[in-house]
Amino acid sequence: MTGAADANGPNRRRGTVKVQSLMLDGARVTLGVYRQIKDEPLIDQDTCQLRGTPLGTVNYHRPDDCPRSGEHLHVVWNKGNDLRRASVTKDWPASGEHSQKVERLARQEQAMYEPVVKLLLLARGQRGIAPSFDGAAMIINVDGRAFRCSDYMLRSDLAALRSQDRSVRAAAEKRIRRERARLLEELVTRAMGTELASAMPSESDLARLVGGNEKNSLFARGVVESVAKATEEVAVLLLKQVLKRPGPAVAAKQSMDRLQAAYDRQYQELAALVQLFIAA
Ligand SMILES: [Zn+2]
Repeated sequence: MTGAADANGPNRRRGTVKVQSLMLDGARVTLGVYRQIKDEPLIDQDTCQLRGTPLGTVNYHRPDDCPRSGEHLHVVWNKGNDLRRASVTKDWPASGEHSQKVERLARQEQAMYEPVVKLLLLARGQRGIAPSFDGAAMIINVDGRAFRCSDYMLRSDLAALRSQDRSVRAAAEKRIRRERARLLEELVTRAMGTELASAMPSESDLARLVGGNEKNSLFARGVVESVAKATEEVAVLLLKQVLKRPGPAVAAKQSMDRLQAAYDRQYQELAALVQLFIAA
Protein backbone atom coordinates (compact mmCIF):
# COMPACT_ATOMS: atom_id res chain seq x y z
CA MET A 1 0.00 0.00 0.00
CA THR A 2 2.44 2.61 -1.21
CA GLY A 3 1.34 6.14 -0.57
CA ALA A 4 1.63 8.91 -3.07
CA ALA A 5 1.18 12.64 -3.33
CA ASP A 6 -1.72 12.54 -5.81
CA ALA A 7 0.52 11.38 -8.67
CA ASN A 8 -2.45 9.89 -10.46
CA GLY A 9 -5.20 11.21 -8.31
CA PRO A 10 -7.65 14.00 -8.91
CA ASN A 11 -6.10 17.46 -8.80
CA ARG A 12 -8.30 20.26 -7.69
CA ARG A 13 -7.58 23.87 -8.26
CA ARG A 14 -8.65 26.50 -5.79
CA GLY A 15 -7.93 29.73 -7.55
CA THR A 16 -4.33 29.41 -8.67
CA VAL A 17 -3.25 27.18 -5.80
CA LYS A 18 -2.79 23.55 -6.73
CA VAL A 19 -4.00 21.33 -3.92
CA GLN A 20 -2.30 17.99 -3.48
CA SER A 21 -4.08 15.15 -1.76
CA LEU A 22 -2.61 12.20 0.03
CA MET A 23 -3.35 9.13 -2.04
CA LEU A 24 -3.34 5.49 -1.06
CA ASP A 25 -3.75 2.79 -3.71
CA GLY A 26 -5.22 5.39 -6.02
CA ALA A 27 -7.81 6.69 -3.56
CA ARG A 28 -7.72 9.92 -1.58
CA VAL A 29 -6.95 9.31 2.07
CA THR A 30 -9.65 10.29 4.55
CA LEU A 31 -9.00 11.44 8.10
CA GLY A 32 -10.10 8.07 9.46
CA VAL A 33 -7.58 6.28 7.25
CA TYR A 34 -4.86 8.88 7.94
CA ARG A 35 -5.18 8.27 11.66
CA GLN A 36 -4.71 4.55 11.12
CA ILE A 37 -1.38 5.01 9.37
CA LYS A 38 1.38 3.56 11.55
CA ASP A 39 3.40 6.15 13.42
CA GLU A 40 7.15 5.53 13.09
CA PRO A 41 10.23 7.80 13.36
CA LEU A 42 11.36 9.02 9.93
CA ILE A 43 14.77 10.27 11.02
CA ASP A 44 17.16 7.60 12.26
CA GLN A 45 18.24 8.67 15.74
CA ASP A 46 21.81 7.34 15.42
CA THR A 47 22.67 8.75 12.00
CA CYS A 48 20.12 11.57 11.52
CA GLN A 49 19.44 10.16 8.03
CA LEU A 50 15.98 9.50 6.61
CA ARG A 51 14.65 5.96 6.94
CA GLY A 52 12.46 6.23 3.86
CA THR A 53 10.98 8.58 1.28
CA PRO A 54 8.94 11.51 2.56
CA LEU A 55 5.81 12.36 0.54
CA GLY A 56 4.73 15.58 2.20
CA THR A 57 3.49 17.20 5.38
CA VAL A 58 0.01 17.16 6.82
CA ASN A 59 -1.20 20.20 8.69
CA TYR A 60 -3.47 18.33 11.04
CA HIS A 61 -2.79 18.70 14.75
CA ARG A 62 -4.50 17.25 17.73
CA PRO A 63 -3.15 16.77 21.27
CA ASP A 64 -2.79 12.99 21.18
CA ASP A 65 -0.92 13.10 17.86
CA CYS A 66 1.40 16.05 18.50
CA PRO A 67 4.72 16.02 20.35
CA ARG A 68 4.37 17.49 23.82
CA SER A 69 6.02 20.78 23.01
CA GLY A 70 7.71 22.83 20.36
CA GLU A 71 7.50 23.43 16.65
CA HIS A 72 7.05 20.24 14.64
CA LEU A 73 5.90 18.71 11.38
CA HIS A 74 3.68 15.74 10.63
CA VAL A 75 5.26 13.94 7.73
CA VAL A 76 3.81 11.10 5.68
CA TRP A 77 6.48 8.83 4.25
CA ASN A 78 7.05 5.57 2.44
CA LYS A 79 9.01 2.87 4.19
CA GLY A 80 9.70 0.58 1.27
CA ASN A 81 6.20 -0.33 0.13
CA ASP A 82 4.50 0.72 3.36
CA LEU A 83 2.95 4.01 4.29
CA ARG A 84 4.06 5.63 7.56
CA ARG A 85 3.56 8.90 9.35
CA ALA A 86 5.94 10.62 11.76
CA SER A 87 6.06 13.67 13.99
CA VAL A 88 9.34 15.50 13.50
CA THR A 89 10.29 18.15 16.04
CA LYS A 90 12.32 21.18 15.01
CA ASP A 91 14.61 20.65 17.98
CA TRP A 92 16.84 17.62 17.70
CA PRO A 93 15.42 15.19 20.29
CA ALA A 94 18.80 13.60 21.08
CA SER A 95 20.47 16.95 21.72
CA GLY A 96 20.31 16.74 25.54
CA GLU A 97 21.58 13.18 25.62
CA HIS A 98 24.58 14.06 23.43
CA SER A 99 25.39 17.21 25.44
CA GLN A 100 25.40 15.16 28.63
CA LYS A 101 27.80 12.67 27.10
CA VAL A 102 30.17 15.44 25.97
CA GLU A 103 30.02 17.03 29.43
CA ARG A 104 30.69 13.71 31.14
CA LEU A 105 33.73 13.05 28.95
CA ALA A 106 34.99 16.60 29.48
CA ARG A 107 34.71 16.12 33.25
CA GLN A 108 36.68 12.86 32.99
CA GLU A 109 39.34 14.65 30.96
CA GLN A 110 39.42 17.48 33.48
CA ALA A 111 39.81 14.94 36.31
CA MET A 112 42.80 13.54 34.43
CA TYR A 113 44.41 16.95 33.99
CA GLU A 114 43.67 18.27 37.45
CA PRO A 115 46.29 16.51 39.58
CA VAL A 116 48.95 17.10 36.90
CA VAL A 117 48.06 20.79 36.66
CA LYS A 118 48.16 21.09 40.46
CA LEU A 119 51.52 19.36 40.56
CA LEU A 120 52.85 21.75 37.97
CA LEU A 121 51.45 24.77 39.81
CA LEU A 122 53.02 23.83 43.10
CA ALA A 123 56.35 22.84 41.56
CA ARG A 124 56.56 26.15 39.74
CA GLY A 125 55.34 27.97 42.85
CA GLN A 126 58.21 26.46 44.83
CA ARG A 127 60.56 27.70 42.17
CA GLY A 128 59.15 31.21 42.57
CA ILE A 129 57.11 31.16 39.36
CA ALA A 130 53.64 32.51 40.19
CA PRO A 131 50.67 31.48 38.04
CA SER A 132 48.53 34.02 36.22
CA PHE A 133 44.85 34.47 37.09
CA ASP A 134 41.58 34.92 35.27
CA GLY A 135 39.22 36.01 38.02
CA ALA A 136 38.54 32.75 39.85
CA ALA A 137 41.12 30.34 38.45
CA MET A 138 44.89 30.04 38.30
CA ILE A 139 46.20 29.53 34.81
CA ILE A 140 49.29 27.67 33.76
CA ASN A 141 50.59 27.36 30.21
CA VAL A 142 52.18 24.29 28.68
CA ASP A 143 53.03 24.16 25.00
CA GLY A 144 50.85 27.19 24.29
CA ARG A 145 47.81 25.62 25.91
CA ALA A 146 46.27 27.12 29.02
CA PHE A 147 45.12 24.95 31.93
CA ARG A 148 42.88 26.25 34.69
CA CYS A 149 42.80 25.30 38.34
CA SER A 150 40.50 26.85 40.90
CA ASP A 151 41.71 24.99 44.01
CA TYR A 152 41.48 27.62 46.73
CA MET A 153 43.76 25.82 49.22
CA LEU A 154 46.53 25.46 46.68
CA ARG A 155 46.12 29.07 45.69
CA SER A 156 46.47 30.32 49.26
CA ASP A 157 49.47 28.04 49.90
CA LEU A 158 51.17 29.34 46.76
CA ALA A 159 50.53 32.91 47.95
CA ALA A 160 51.91 32.01 51.41
CA LEU A 161 55.16 30.88 49.77
CA ARG A 162 55.79 34.53 48.94
CA SER A 163 54.94 35.76 52.45
CA GLN A 164 57.36 38.04 54.35
CA ASP A 165 56.77 35.88 57.42
CA ARG A 166 59.25 33.01 57.57
CA SER A 167 57.00 30.73 59.66
CA VAL A 168 54.10 31.28 57.24
CA ARG A 169 56.42 30.34 54.35
CA ALA A 170 57.70 27.26 56.21
CA ALA A 171 54.16 26.04 56.98
CA ALA A 172 53.12 26.50 53.35
CA GLU A 173 56.25 24.72 52.16
CA LYS A 174 55.39 21.77 54.40
CA ARG A 175 51.80 21.57 53.14
CA ILE A 176 53.00 21.77 49.56
CA ARG A 177 55.46 18.93 50.07
CA ARG A 178 52.67 16.80 51.52
CA GLU A 179 50.34 17.72 48.67
CA ARG A 180 53.05 16.92 46.14
CA ALA A 181 53.49 13.43 47.61
CA ARG A 182 49.74 12.90 47.59
CA LEU A 183 49.34 14.07 44.00
CA LEU A 184 52.20 11.92 42.74
CA GLU A 185 50.70 8.88 44.43
CA GLU A 186 47.29 9.67 42.99
CA LEU A 187 48.78 10.00 39.53
CA VAL A 188 50.67 6.72 39.79
CA THR A 189 47.47 4.96 40.86
CA ARG A 190 45.48 6.60 38.10
CA ALA A 191 48.09 5.90 35.43
CA MET A 192 48.26 2.18 36.23
CA GLY A 193 47.12 0.08 33.31
CA THR A 194 46.82 3.07 30.98
CA GLU A 195 49.23 4.35 28.37
CA LEU A 196 50.15 7.07 30.86
CA ALA A 197 51.97 4.45 32.91
CA SER A 198 54.92 4.61 30.50
CA ALA A 199 55.25 8.33 31.17
CA MET A 200 55.45 7.88 34.92
CA PRO A 201 58.88 7.96 36.57
CA SER A 202 60.22 4.68 37.93
CA GLU A 203 59.35 3.74 41.49
CA SER A 204 62.85 4.50 42.72
CA ASP A 205 62.75 7.93 41.05
CA LEU A 206 59.37 8.54 42.62
CA ALA A 207 60.68 7.47 46.02
CA ARG A 208 63.30 10.17 45.67
CA LEU A 209 60.65 12.73 44.80
CA VAL A 210 57.95 11.59 47.17
CA GLY A 211 60.23 10.35 49.94
CA GLY A 212 58.96 11.68 53.26
CA ASN A 213 62.43 12.51 54.42
CA GLU A 214 64.11 14.51 51.72
CA LYS A 215 67.27 14.77 53.82
CA ASN A 216 68.00 11.17 52.95
CA SER A 217 66.97 11.40 49.36
CA LEU A 218 69.30 11.95 46.46
CA PHE A 219 68.18 15.55 46.60
CA ALA A 220 70.22 16.54 49.60
CA ARG A 221 68.87 19.02 52.10
CA GLY A 222 68.82 22.57 50.81
CA VAL A 223 68.12 21.56 47.21
CA VAL A 224 64.33 21.84 47.31
CA GLU A 225 64.78 23.62 44.00
CA SER A 226 65.93 20.31 42.51
CA VAL A 227 62.92 18.40 43.82
CA ALA A 228 60.60 21.11 42.56
CA LYS A 229 62.33 21.09 39.19
CA ALA A 230 62.14 17.30 38.94
CA THR A 231 58.45 17.45 39.89
CA GLU A 232 57.84 20.08 37.25
CA GLU A 233 59.53 17.91 34.64
CA VAL A 234 57.40 14.92 35.60
CA ALA A 235 54.24 17.04 35.47
CA VAL A 236 55.06 18.54 32.07
CA LEU A 237 55.89 15.07 30.74
CA LEU A 238 52.55 13.70 31.97
CA LEU A 239 50.59 16.65 30.68
CA LYS A 240 52.14 16.17 27.23
CA GLN A 241 51.19 12.49 27.38
CA VAL A 242 47.62 13.43 28.27
CA LEU A 243 47.55 15.99 25.45
CA LYS A 244 48.75 13.40 22.93
CA ARG A 245 45.59 11.39 23.46
CA PRO A 246 42.83 12.14 20.95
CA GLY A 247 40.56 13.61 23.62
CA PRO A 248 37.27 11.69 23.68
CA ALA A 249 35.33 14.82 24.67
CA VAL A 250 36.50 16.67 21.57
CA ALA A 251 35.65 13.71 19.33
CA ALA A 252 32.20 13.38 20.93
CA LYS A 253 31.55 17.11 20.49
CA GLN A 254 32.52 16.95 16.80
CA SER A 255 30.24 13.96 16.27
CA MET A 256 27.40 15.76 18.09
CA ASP A 257 27.84 18.88 15.94
CA ARG A 258 27.79 16.78 12.74
CA LEU A 259 24.58 15.02 13.78
CA GLN A 260 22.96 18.28 14.87
CA ALA A 261 23.75 19.85 11.47
CA ALA A 262 22.41 16.76 9.67
CA TYR A 263 19.21 16.87 11.72
CA ASP A 264 18.66 20.58 11.08
CA ARG A 265 19.19 20.01 7.35
CA GLN A 266 16.67 17.15 7.34
CA TYR A 267 14.12 19.28 9.17
CA GLN A 268 14.53 22.18 6.74
CA GLU A 269 14.08 19.87 3.78
CA LEU A 270 10.99 18.27 5.34
CA ALA A 271 9.53 21.68 6.15
CA ALA A 272 9.90 22.62 2.48
CA LEU A 273 7.93 19.56 1.33
CA VAL A 274 4.56 19.91 -0.32
CA GLN A 275 1.56 20.11 2.01
CA LEU A 276 -0.83 17.20 1.54
CA PHE A 277 -4.55 17.44 2.14
CA ILE A 278 -6.66 14.83 3.80
CA ALA A 279 -10.04 14.15 2.23
CA ALA A 280 -13.09 15.05 4.26
ZN1 LIG B 1 1.01 18.56 15.51
